[in-house]
Amino acid sequence: MDTFDKMMKDVAQKSEKEKAALLADLKSKCPCPGCPSYNNCAKTAQEAAFCILGNSFMCISSDKGCNCPGCPLHGQYGMKYKSYCTRGSEMAQRYANTIWGSSLK
Ligand code: SF4
Ligand code: SF4
Repeated sequence: MDTFDKMMKDVAQKSEKEKAALLADLKSKCPCPGCPSYNNCAKTAQEAAFCILGNSFMCISSDKGCNCPGCPLHGQYGMKYKSYCTRGSEMAQRYANTIWGSSLK
């Protein structure tokens, strides 16, 4: 079990209130708003933390560059993928890679 799997397992055992607090903290620290792919629609909708929450909801549809690999949280939680706003969460991309052998990283 790697760092990301362990983190997700730990989070799954927390209460809904604790999960909400962790997510709020992650969103507040997420550097997505400084990324070239991030747009006004996402800003207005206060979207962030796509690595956990998954694709942008009708705001970001094209990848114009991704700051995720340089994000401190990306390293801290042992994430392997990027462009979560258009490709789906870390968990979804891991699953897709397992099933379909996707080479996107
Ligand atoms: S997930 Fe990556 S590409 Fe999408 S807004 Fe965040 S830093 Fe930019
Ligand atoms: S890895 Fe990407 S989506 Fe996740 S917190 Fe960092 S910048 Fe935001």
